[in-house]
Amino acid sequence: MFYDIAVIGAGVFGAWSAYQLSLTGASVLLIDAYGPGNSRASSGGESRVIRLGYGPDEIYSRSAQRSFTLWQQLFEKTEPLFQKTGVLWLARDHDPYCEATLATLQRLNASFERLDEDELRRRFPQLDPGPTRWAILEPDSGVLMARRAVQAVVAQAKLNGVEYLAGAVAPPQGKAMRMLSGAEIKAGRFVFACGPWLPKLFPELLGELIYVTRQEVIFVGVPPGDESFNRGAMPVWIDFNDLVYGLPNVDGRGFKIAIDAHGAEFDPDRGERVVSVEGLKAVREYLVHRAPRLANAPVLETRVCQYENTSNGDFLIDRHPQFENVWIAGGGSGHGFKHGPVVGEYVARMIAGDGVEERRFTLKTKERVQERKVY
Ligand SMILES: Cc1cc2nc3c(=O)[nH]c(=O)nc-3n(C[C@H](O)[C@H](O)[C@H](O)COP(=O)(O)OP(=O)(O)OC[C@H]3O[C@@H](n4cnc5c(N)ncnc54)[C@H](O)[C@@H]3O)c2cc1C
Repeated sequence: MFYDIAVIGAGVFGAWSAYQLSLTGASVLLIDAYGPGNSRASSGGESRVIRLGYGPDEIYSRSAQRSFTLWQQLFEKTEPLFQKTGVLWLARDHDPYCEATLATLQRLNASFERLDEDELRRRFPQLDPGPTRWAILEPDSGVLMARRAVQAVVAQAKLNGVEYLAGAVAPPQGKAMRMLSGAEIKAGRFVFACGPWLPKLFPELLGELIYVTRQEVIFVGVPPGDESFNRGAMPVWIDFNDLVYGLPNVDGRGFKIAIDAHGAEFDPDRGERVVSVEGLKAVREYLVHRAPRLANAPVLETRVCQYENTSNGDFLIDRHPQFENVWIAGGGSGHGFKHGPVVGEYVARMIAGDGVEERRFTLKTKERVQERKVY
């Protein structure tokens, strides 16, 4: 069968691209090597934060706002896979990032509260503010149930006529695209939404433009009968001054904490997903100061995932410079999940020829140095 478009990769970017393309009436084939939201994928795992704050990068605040609406519309058709927890930004005295976030939230007419230190202590006594002097609360933001949400997008895409194929696509070597098995994929255009695998598929083009880093996530157990770390009592909190964030105890899985600083280089196919002694130590040390009641809490669960970073954290969504019919959508850079719906919309419009190019997503803006600016 010949398809208008083949989307390779059913992570959050590919799943939403296939879904949005199907709404244009195109015939779409969606292919994944390991399955939608699989445990190797960057979109795997239980939960992802959706928030509007992006410091000075209003482009991503707007995208998150639009994506939030599209996620909600999707969940009306599937099951509710968003949990409203609120998102709390912990700010220092002089904090350009949080000040810029505050200004953007005002401009976007988003709901938010500015809390001074006393109010923060009163409302969230589970957290020790430490050097935090004030905070921003986004009351309507929260948590997307990641793996299940990706699977829900794929299920909806299938209802719209998208065909799903399990299998691995070989690195492109010319105009004809093939599965690793050798079978040809017959399609007019191809969207490679392969997250951390993109440098393997396009080593010459992307080998130095996307670097894949190992990231550890740890869930610790809350004290028995203590509901103060649960969703409802405790929001998601983000401390980008220390590059740490955490999620409340959602669905009884424990208090989730992760260091956002980039880890070592990582291979998404073969990398062992066991957290390091150093990673556990860093989390424990942080808990002692930030959530002292959890300082000795037992580890319930751990995960190793990966970020697929561009030099500054901007997405990479552009046409392949050598192959007219090939598009690349990736570079989620540790913050991409929430934006899946808008990424899909952008891909569908660009392919239909009626999109407006966003310079920050283009290949020509991508550098080879690691200089993270977008969080
Ligand atoms: C620990 C962690 C925490 C994060 N927290 C947040 C957060 O709170 N909020 C947020 O918005 N974002 C967050 N992110 C970032 C976000 O999860 C990613 O940016 C996003 O999931 C990337 O999606 P993707 O579709 O580009 O890639 P992926 O999800 O990796 O999907 C790529 C898919 O391509 C498939 N594939 C690869 N090669 C082939 C091939 N040759 N043939 C066929 N299929 C192939 C893979 O199997 C995979 O399913 C986090 C990421 C991590 C790792």
